[in-house]
Amino acid sequence: MDYEFDVAIVGSGPAGIFCALELIKYMPDLKMVIIERGKRIDARTCPNSTMARGCKKCIPCHILAGWGGAGAFSDGKLTFSTRVGGWLDEIIGERSLTELMDYVDSTYISYGAPERIYGAKEDDIEEYARRAALIGMELIPQKVRHMGREGCIDVMGKMYDDIQKHTEIRFKTEAKDIHINGNAVQGIETNGGDMLAAKYVVAAPGRVGNEWLSGQAKKLSLTTENNYVDIGVRLEIPVAVMAGIAETLYEPKLIYYSKEFDDKVRLFCFNPGGVVTSEYYDDILTVNGQSFANEKTSTTNFALLVSSRFTAPFNEPIAYGQSVARLANMLGHGVIVQRLADLRRGKRSTAERIARSPVKPTLPSAVPGDLSFVLPYRHLSSILEMIDALDKLCPGIGGDGTLLYGAEVKFYSSRVKTSPALETEVRNLYSAGDGAGVTRGLMQASVSGVVVARDILSKEGVTTPGSTDISTS
Ligand SMILES: Cc1cc2nc3c(=O)[nH]c(=O)nc-3n(C[C@H](O)[C@H](O)[C@H](O)COP(=O)(O)OP(=O)(O)OC[C@H]3O[C@@H](n4cnc5c(N)ncnc54)[C@H](O)[C@@H]3O)c2cc1C
Repeated sequence: MDYEFDVAIVGSGPAGIFCALELIKYMPDLKMVIIERGKRIDARTCPNSTMARGCKKCIPCHILAGWGGAGAFSDGKLTFSTRVGGWLDEIIGERSLTELMDYVDSTYISYGAPERIYGAKEDDIEEYARRAALIGMELIPQKVRHMGREGCIDVMGKMYDDIQKHTEIRFKTEAKDIHINGNAVQGIETNGGDMLAAKYVVAAPGRVGNEWLSGQAKKLSLTTENNYVDIGVRLEIPVAVMAGIAETLYEPKLIYYSKEFDDKVRLFCFNPGGVVTSEYYDDILTVNGQSFANEKTSTTNFALLVSSRFTAPFNEPIAYGQSVARLANMLGHGVIVQRLADLRRGKRSTAERIARSPVKPTLPSAVPGDLSFVLPYRHLSSILEMIDALDKLCPGIGGDGTLLYGAEVKFYSSRVKTSPALETEVRNLYSAGDGAGVTRGLMQASVSGVVVARDILSKEGVTTPGSTDISTS
């Protein structure tokens, strides 16, 4: 069959970008198209990306969609642990993942990411790991390269400048349907009705596109499995409370198993001197957090989320997470904020009670309310247990004035069954990144793009450094 394109990539987040960069590096003349639902990076504007915040409920959300995907306006923390940011270690093996993380990191540096690495003071980290173990928590040590939001936009903008010299990029264009012929992919149909015939199709639509990819998987009868759904809150505390741990670890990641339910509770997405933000997933508002390189607040925020994985017969973890977020939206007309003292005493927060907290809320649109009407008992109880445990590690976290914002929900797409090279059961159709349910962070999403590109290159007869390692791992 005659193809208009050799490769069509859906989504220009880190997974799509790194797939394109790797293909161009070895086959610069490949005929490639990237289709992206959002806008160019310089046309993406959001009040949430500045200190003057407030969600305008754009569709698609500028924080999540457009060149760079969710990565462009992210915090830009590249993490160097195979246990963080995805599940690629289960698919390509720990050794390949470690090698590819180094490779991806060097690419980020070549596009201007800062040289400095944080979290490398090993003796001090040992001490925190020991103290965490004493209170039943596991500290996941990790080194971090921090680009910051401004750095991320700059780095991804430079990647765009290079990629667009070789590749057609169609913005404000949505992939509607993946077409196959027999058991091989045929191309992509866009929402405008264009049929882009392509020999290889790479679906990298991110979390914002997970429903689309799940729908396509169903239509194409691809095997999928339920993934985790993480539901919880974002905590906001004075900067001083976690200043010591922040200085040593930079990005603390802690895991706790609750006594009552044996549920996994994670502390992550740590923003010292940062702000709490909201995110708009088509019709629901959820909570997130971020920090800026040049402007600091007097508060620190981080997520405390409980992970659940449902088994048969229920197979809609995303719908479950959305329902919890919708409850918060229904009661608070958006995001709810509550003082820890009020939550513990079974009272809703009011503006007056919030004003008694030494923590001044950095998300002005959050409405004082009662999160116990929103979160299921097992989530709330596990979160409160973790707060008590954390208070022993960093006294003050469990203070009356601590603020909780909800609901924070992380949807991980149902995972499409793939080969170790991320090829689906349909020949030449690949799925990569967060939307494929295999990653949940910049580093692993970028790695997944390289994995796909190397498999395509090997099918085209090009040998790359790690291609054989992955297919045999
Ligand atoms: C506020 C915030 C801060 C974060 N901070 C960090 C951090 O510091 N460190 C870290 O490791 N991770 C961070 N993350 C997570 C990180 O951004 C993601 O894990 C990463 O961007 C995933 O990359 P991806 O390429 O898989 O998907 P995405 O980056 O989500 O990109 C997918 C792209 O596909 C497009 N798309 C979707 N569906 C379609 C369709 N049907 N047709 C066409 N285009 C489509 C979307 O518009 C989007 O641009 C953060 C995320 C957010 C939201």
